[in-house]
Amino acid sequence: MTQIPIQTISRYAKSLKAFEQAKKLMPGGVNSPVRAFSAVGRNPVTVEKAKGAMVTDIDGNVYIDYILSYGPIILGHADDRVLAAINKAAQKGASFGMPTLGEIKLAQKVCDMVPSVEILRFVNSGTEATMSALRVARAATGRDKIVKFVGCYHGHHDSLLVQAGSGMTTLGAPSSPGVPKSVTQNTLLIEFNDAAALAELFEQHLDEIAAVIVEPIAGNMGCIPPVDGYLQTMRELCTQHGAILIFDEVMTGLRVAPGCAQAIYGVSPDLTCLGKVVGGGLPCAAYGGKEELMRLVSPDGKVYQAGTLSGNPIAMGAGLATLEGMSEDGAYERLDELSKRLADGLAVAAADAGVALQTHRVGSMVCPFMTDKPVINYQDAIACSDEDFKVFFGSMLDQGIMLAPSLYETWFVSLSHDEVLIDQTIAAARVAYQAVAEARG
Ligand code: PLP
Repeated sequence: MTQIPIQTISRYAKSLKAFEQAKKLMPGGVNSPVRAFSAVGRNPVTVEKAKGAMVTDIDGNVYIDYILSYGPIILGHADDRVLAAINKAAQKGASFGMPTLGEIKLAQKVCDMVPSVEILRFVNSGTEATMSALRVARAATGRDKIVKFVGCYHGHHDSLLVQAGSGMTTLGAPSSPGVPKSVTQNTLLIEFNDAAALAELFEQHLDEIAAVIVEPIAGNMGCIPPVDGYLQTMRELCTQHGAILIFDEVMTGLRVAPGCAQAIYGVSPDLTCLGKVVGGGLPCAAYGGKEELMRLVSPDGKVYQAGTLSGNPIAMGAGLATLEGMSEDGAYERLDELSKRLADGLAVAAADAGVALQTHRVGSMVCPFMTDKPVINYQDAIACSDEDFKVFFGSMLDQGIMLAPSLYETWFVSLSHDEVLIDQTIAAARVAYQAVAEARG
């Protein structure tokens, strides 16, 4: 494993101490596994505060942040408009278990931005959103089987916590102890971006498939866009076979475009799951879509789904302020411009160091895969070298650039980034790619 210089360790002394304490109290010292930095052979830094595009750790190190809480922080950290909305809502009380006007305002805003969402239900996490959408799909079709794509992540509930097997299709095997086979045996797995495999799967399971759930731009195996026509074919197959098409836009939704990935590719799903940006950094997510489907949800219908903190007024305020900020003229165009500058700069920096790169980008989601081969599915993504990424990540961190600590995570850009920060990032990447080239020998 790559050696971490002593000098570097002392720079993170307080974080290291905090991590030792945290490990005694929480599994892996964290409340979500990737935060432990184990995939990159480093210890996590403990955050003190963040503002705009910058995050500061408890040792006083300052970083340009491309994690952005794994996506929600699209305006930048501690945005004044979001802070004001949070403060205003909090002054009135944290939670009531009764309706508020904030829910109506945010629901209206989401329905205006995403035309396929006719009505919706707010929940607290992306996991809840996808779990509930599947329940609706199964109730609507009276079928049990669902299709999931290898390498797509939809949260940690049982039926979607399924790993890939080999071959074109695999009956789901649980990827975590504690998940019953009886649940995952209804989950059919196939590779992303393979329309023929999906068509064949529908033929093999005629009248059995309730839903196809997909990240329309796969964001949990790096960032892998759909190949031309793929989502259109998926839409046609679902319609033809009476299956519900669910777009999991928890990551892409309201980020890659105002109307989400579905607007970019011109494909309308039956149900959409949103999370991250919709809550502006507070726990909030949603699922919604065709009214006839969503009216199946309790109390209009019999599909039970509930939540003590769902539609939380503070989260509604933060979400609305975020979406209003993103609705200002030129907001998405500006994000696109900054993200393009980043992607282009990374490509040049890598080329100059002799490191082959496939730089994927859709809107403000960027992923530079260190490979000379095309990356269109999970198998391609995992063929990239972990060791390369460890070297790259460590060098970037030590130069003050905070990347998600995994080869399979997307970089996110916010409206608080600017040309100076992007150029500083590219300059750091120049050094990091050089380090990769040297480590390869
Ligand atoms: N769906 C997608 C596409 C995601 O990226 C994630 C989380 O990263 C989820 C669902 C689960 O969301 P949460 O972590 O809020 O439960």
